[in-house]
Amino acid sequence: MQKIEHLGIAVSNLDAANALYAKLLGTMPYKTERVESEGVNTSFFQVGESKIELLEATNPDSPIAKFIAKKGEGIHHIAFDVDDIHAEMRRLQAEGFVLLNEAPKRGADNKLVCFIHPKSANGVLVELCQEIREAE
Ligand code: ZN
Repeated sequence: MQKIEHLGIAVSNLDAANALYAKLLGTMPYKTERVESEGVNTSFFQVGESKIELLEATNPDSPIAKFIAKKGEGIHHIAFDVDDIHAEMRRLQAEGFVLLNEAPKRGADNKLVCFIHPKSANGVLVELCQEIREAE
């Protein structure tokens, strides 16, 4: 694992949260992106070498809608940058961590991602993400 790539924060209204985080961080989001497969609208802020990802549900079945219904808005996941997501998934599986997807999937911001079950990590949803390189 390399650095903390981003923190994911569940919000109920992305426009309002974008305005608030723009004030908080003193910078505008550098991109917004809808990820249909996850049922989310996202926006990204660069903060030094890490990022903040805001996530808003696009439908009531979205994992973000369920998270907010259960826990309210707040930190949803922590994402680590990895160099080789396949190798890292094998390593963690061998260590006994429960992976939420068997193969890496395409996430927001040009990444391959895999999630680790919060039960495996003291209640924290962990995301592995690897930049998609052109040859893949
Ligand atoms: Zn994320």
